[in-house]
Amino acid sequence: MTVVSVSMPEDLLSRIDSFADEHGYTGRSEVVREAARNLLGEFEDKRLEDRDLISIVTVMFNYETTTVEERMMHLRHEHEELVSSNFHSHVGNHYCMELFVLEGRLDEISTFVGKIRATKDTLTVDYSVMPVDDFSSLENLG
Ligand SMILES: [Zn+2]
Repeated sequence: MTVVSVSMPEDLLSRIDSFADEHGYTGRSEVVREAARNLLGEFEDKRLEDRDLISIVTVMFNYETTTVEERMMHLRHEHEELVSSNFHSHVGNHYCMELFVLEGRLDEISTFVGKIRATKDTLTVDYSVMPVDDFSSLENLG
């Protein structure tokens, strides 16, 4: 194995160390390796590949202290063919929630979610993905 050096905020590192302790990992490296595998495998779902998908992505951020809103606008324009609609809501006194409805393929959705995650200062990023090319299994439920 190759030894790498990674910069990380102190509080994240201490959370990783406690997690390793509490869950019986041999150390922080093992936790980081597993987290990386999970992240990389997240969008490798054979059942969703090469299909028409719809995805809902929500992002929360503090509008007063960040430039996330501007970044979200850029992302929307960069991925105009993928973003079918976009809502902006205000939550409490300081927070904004951006909601994107995406229609496209798994790799495009994965790229879009990845770019949002890579945006500094977001508070939460959540998403769901659902195929829309075959509703027959749902119709049979009725
Ligand atoms: Zn706002």
